[in-house]
Amino acid sequence: FDFLTQSDPTAAAIIQRELQRQRDHLELIASENFTSAAVLAAQGSVLTNKYAEGLPKKRYYGGCEFIDEAEQLAIDRVKQLFGATHANVQPHSGAQANFAVFLALLQPRDTIMGMDLSHGGHLTHGSPVNVSGKWFEVRHYGVDPDTEQLDYDQILEAARQHRPKLIICGYSAYPRTIHFDRFRQIADEVGAYLMADIAHIAGLVATGDHPSPLPHCDVVTTTTHKTLRGPRGGLILTRDPDLGKKFDKAVFPGSQGGPLEHAIIAKAVAFGEALRPDFKAYSAQVIANAQAMADQLTNRGIKIVSGGTDNHLLLLDLRSIGMTGKQADKLVSDVNITANKNTVPFDPESPFVTSGLRLGSPAMTTRGLGTSEFREIADIIADRLLHPEDDAIKQSCRQRVATLCERFPLYSHLAGPVAA
Ligand code: PLP
Repeated sequence: FDFLTQSDPTAAAIIQRELQRQRDHLELIASENFTSAAVLAAQGSVLTNKYAEGLPKKRYYGGCEFIDEAEQLAIDRVKQLFGATHANVQPHSGAQANFAVFLALLQPRDTIMGMDLSHGGHLTHGSPVNVSGKWFEVRHYGVDPDTEQLDYDQILEAARQHRPKLIICGYSAYPRTIHFDRFRQIADEVGAYLMADIAHIAGLVATGDHPSPLPHCDVVTTTTHKTLRGPRGGLILTRDPDLGKKFDKAVFPGSQGGPLEHAIIAKAVAFGEALRPDFKAYSAQVIANAQAMADQLTNRGIKIVSGGTDNHLLLLDLRSIGMTGKQADKLVSDVNITANKNTVPFDPESPFVTSGLRLGSPAMTTRGLGTSEFREIADIIADRLLHPEDDAIKQSCRQRVATLCERFPLYSHLAGPVAA
């Protein structure tokens, strides 16, 4: 870091300010996490200098002997972690992984079926503003209006009607367990490929705290930076070697150029961490913390979509307190809590306003917070949302956030003051 400060103080100061922001805010964005110091070090390594188009031992450039070791390490570890027989660790992001799968399995105008964005699906699952919605015929499914959970009979009915070539399961804002075996039955009934995008829950799947899609799905994609706690990136897994070859070609040369080998060695480090017993304890704590937060918010009279959570995230339905997601987002951000406004199923508000606030436990669990602290976080959020005009409460919420951040320091090995 000293090198950077000396050579480019402007850039160094930006990084320092972002470090300080991460240290003195409660990070509740469900898709974010804090990587280990080891992952940060690997990502900032000399592997960034190397071109390595191709795959280990099949490169288009010389000098790849150690790059091959790095990529093979990531492949071997992630296969072990998820019980896959084939892995491609090159996708630059979750969206890139999904795009490569589409390129491998589909032709333009084929029909795909994924969850509606406003019910918790992702943009890459057929939104009209994404290539998946522009190139394919999209039929969406949603959650049941009463339970706000997946209704597999309704999804089967929709699949029979629309005969998709690909069914996508796995979501960005769904707080309940996904039954991949049920999706397999549906896909088999209509002769569709089944893809699970486990970007959000990958860490919980790796430890067995969420059922694995691998035995049931033709292909599994994920990001590496959410509950899995690795560097920003994506990957593709399958148990079918022929499909595996197609995905490899769809990544390179189909849709990407040179792989980011500095990110790939950092993925390998993160997979190594996820294979250790303490990651299992972390994953269980992530779920316990999300449930503690959901319980306490419910106690305070704020409705939780589907009545609770089985995983790392929860969605507040703010119609229960006459507020929009946009207002709530601003109110919590005023007291140094970072979250995001989010549509709730059947939301009457636009995506820019929304009726929901999405909260997640992965990042603050990494900082060491347990269930009692997550109940305190729920109380801070409830105090702030239920008394939006009360300045004294606002000040005390800020103070309580600062106290939590001081008690659980972040990246103490890096320069600068550790807490606000
Ligand atoms: N898939 C799901 C379910 C996601 O939630 C996300 C990101 O939030 C992605 C894919 C896209 O990942 P990335 O932002 O790395 O492209």
